[in-house]
Amino acid sequence: MKRAIALIVLALSACEQPAAPGRGNIYSYADTLGGAPQIFHWPETTLPVRYYAAAEGALPEISQRGLEMWQDQFLYGEFRATLWSDSNTADVILRFSGGPPPPADPDTSMIVAACQGVTTPLIDPNTSTLERPMRVTLSWFTGNAPEAIAACLERVVAHELGHTLGLFNAAHAGTNATDLMAGPPRVYAPSDRDRSTVEVLYHTPPTIRPPR
Ligand SMILES: [Zn+2]
Repeated sequence: MKRAIALIVLALSACEQPAAPGRGNIYSYADTLGGAPQIFHWPETTLPVRYYAAAEGALPEISQRGLEMWQDQFLYGEFRATLWSDSNTADVILRFSGGPPPPADPDTSMIVAACQGVTTPLIDPNTSTLERPMRVTLSWFTGNAPEAIAACLERVVAHELGHTLGLFNAAHAGTNATDLMAGPPRVYAPSDRDRSTVEVLYHTPPTIRPPR
């Protein structure tokens, strides 16, 4: 019996995450299943993590930019990733549901809920092992300017990649609108709090084993 944590950016939601004043410089990174915190990060032995980004529109380029941003959050290479051409041996797979949007340059001034992402880590509850691959599914909504869709995908892919690093909190608890891991994201790059949180996560003993 497989259990999934569904990490969903409901880009259609107009709700803002409440700010968490005075709670220090990090937010909650773990989710909880059956009362147990699900703490995961990619260990040294699995680096570089292999990301397959389907050759759909700009997805490989957007993914590459997002991965480089996340790698840059670490001083000592605690997380490293590479785009991987073989989906059968990839750790993470990114795809569109329903095909890529019309090509356009992102207009980053347009903060429009024009797309959505879902990241699904599957954890075997008997062995507390993450299954491979972790899947990121992206979709976009017609009726929006192509430049707004492209900008939304820049934000949402970067956000979903954050989940794939081990930021599994599906409720984005403790984030605020300045954080890339807020849901939905309104910024294009990790904040200082995103950086602090992911650094703490990568120096916290995991409870979930890696898939290889
Ligand atoms: Zn999310």
